[in-house]
Amino acid sequence: MSNENRSTINVMVRLLELLKPLILILSVAVIAGVLGYLAAMFIPILGSYGIINAIGLASNIKLSTLLAFLGVIGFSRGILHYIEQISNHFLAFKILAIIRDRVFSSLRKLAPAKLESKNKGDLISIITGDIELLEVFYAHTISPILIAIIVSITMILFIGRLHFVLGIIALFAYLTVGVLIPTVASKRNKENGEKLRKNMGNMNTFMLDSLRGIKEIIQYDAGNSMVRKLNNKGEKLVEDQKRMSKNRGINMAVTGFAISVFSIAILFTSLYLFNINLLDENAVLISTVSMFSSFGPVIAIANLGSSLTQTIAAGNRVLDIIDESKEVIEVKDKMDIDFSGASTKDLSFKYEGDKYILEGINLNVEENEIIGIVGKSGSGKSTLLKLFMRFWDVDKGEVKLNPLNIKEINTARLRDMESFMTQDTDLFHDSIINNIKVAKLDASLEEVKKACKMASLDEFISDLPKGYNTEVGELGDTLSGGEKQRIGLARTFLHNAPFLLLDEPTSNIDSLNEAIILKAIREDKKRTTIIVSHKESTMRIADRVINIESGRMS
Ligand code: ATP
Ligand code: MG
Repeated sequence: MSNENRSTINVMVRLLELLKPLILILSVAVIAGVLGYLAAMFIPILGSYGIINAIGLASNIKLSTLLAFLGVIGFSRGILHYIEQISNHFLAFKILAIIRDRVFSSLRKLAPAKLESKNKGDLISIITGDIELLEVFYAHTISPILIAIIVSITMILFIGRLHFVLGIIALFAYLTVGVLIPTVASKRNKENGEKLRKNMGNMNTFMLDSLRGIKEIIQYDAGNSMVRKLNNKGEKLVEDQKRMSKNRGINMAVTGFAISVFSIAILFTSLYLFNINLLDENAVLISTVSMFSSFGPVIAIANLGSSLTQTIAAGNRVLDIIDESKEVIEVKDKMDIDFSGASTKDLSFKYEGDKYILEGINLNVEENEIIGIVGKSGSGKSTLLKLFMRFWDVDKGEVKLNPLNIKEINTARLRDMESFMTQDTDLFHDSIINNIKVAKLDASLEEVKKACKMASLDEFISDLPKGYNTEVGELGDTLSGGEKQRIGLARTFLHNAPFLLLDEPTSNIDSLNEAIILKAIREDKKRTTIIVSHKESTMRIADRVINIESGRMS
């Protein structure tokens, strides 16, 4: 993963940009929130006016008016809060849907080249956990910040109108509780938050690996050591979480302390101003009550301080995926051609490292020819097939579907002309027929059966209790290696492309089934085939056999 180190502000700005289409709902949430908080604050403030009235101190507001006002405010407070919450959550879940969509389309672009090297557990924890965590950001972060700013400014003006010194104290009070304390808290917690998200990803990877390797673990009796490792990871997570909640506690205590200090400061300052005749006694009461009851919105921000670090870390990881550049730039506005042979010219290729996997490969595949490729393990045979699919672009030389360089052919058309059977067949948790139909979604049962006959699979499937509708177990574990491989072959045949790329299509298949399959390939005159295999029996159907020795042809 690119793991760029974006600043907190940078992440927040990027996350906000995603929100553009929903700006109207955000405004509704903020307005409702501001009015709601103001309503809540003015309940005690109006109450104070009531007390002033009741104890007969000078006041020019009628008690009945005041009570009516209080009733209206109390009632609307509830409704406003409801509107704020509902719009915030509508906004949050809508935006999560948008982000999921962005992440999935990003993953599609990255497949297969970039995904091959990615950590799958990490991806899963990003898709599930991290995106979910952003709900906190969208539902409980943005509008609270905007609300706090607007409400605080209103209150500074309200208190400052009594005396400007009181206004200045209010300003400092809000800045301390709403900005200073959360900033310090989030700085102290930044590392923790990032570590927690990362360890969460590690845990997922470990679980996934262990499940996939469960047979190896049992066979080599590694169970105990795996459990120990798992415990270790769990303890690390608990440590992280403990540290986080300890910091949260400290944060809340400091916030509470600051609120008391500033409320007392306002009380004493206003008393002093009263003593030197710059303020009347009503103002003393009103300013102190206003100050004390107006911290709600900034406290909401202060409490964010500790969770914000995690949210930002999650946002960072999500943005990493959205920003990842892809390996191959797919083309749409180039040429659509018909297949008439393929070739490579002085092709050289390397993965991330410095070592060339393939060097100076010149290969010419005539139409309707069957080319066999042999070579020792790791010599680059599978890589060559992937280059024909344009999963990667070559570093030097050319790959062509005659007469064009494959970069000049529309990528969708290119993949349509080619049918690639990978060395390992991956199955989906679905019925056998759907597993085969991934190669051609609108295929009829007849077409599927024909492909299965070519792959010597029809008989096996027909004998299953539910036939073609039999469910394939998780990870295809309920099928034998050879059966899985024949499903892979059936897919390739169903795709019905003129150019077949078969990577070890028969490595798990017995000689009887192999003979049936090879005969089908041989007799299928309309196709051109490259077949990679270690088996001599399979190579016998090739018109020509080419040997790739450590990246070179011989
Ligand atoms: P085998 O007969 O065992 O299937 P192969 O000839 O098909 O071997 P390739 O799969 O083409 O070999 O791999 C060639 C080399 O490239 C190997 O050393 C392999 O480790 C390396 N390699 C394969 N895929 C990647 C990748 N995505 N990133 C980096 N290196 C890779
Ligand atoms: Mg291979």
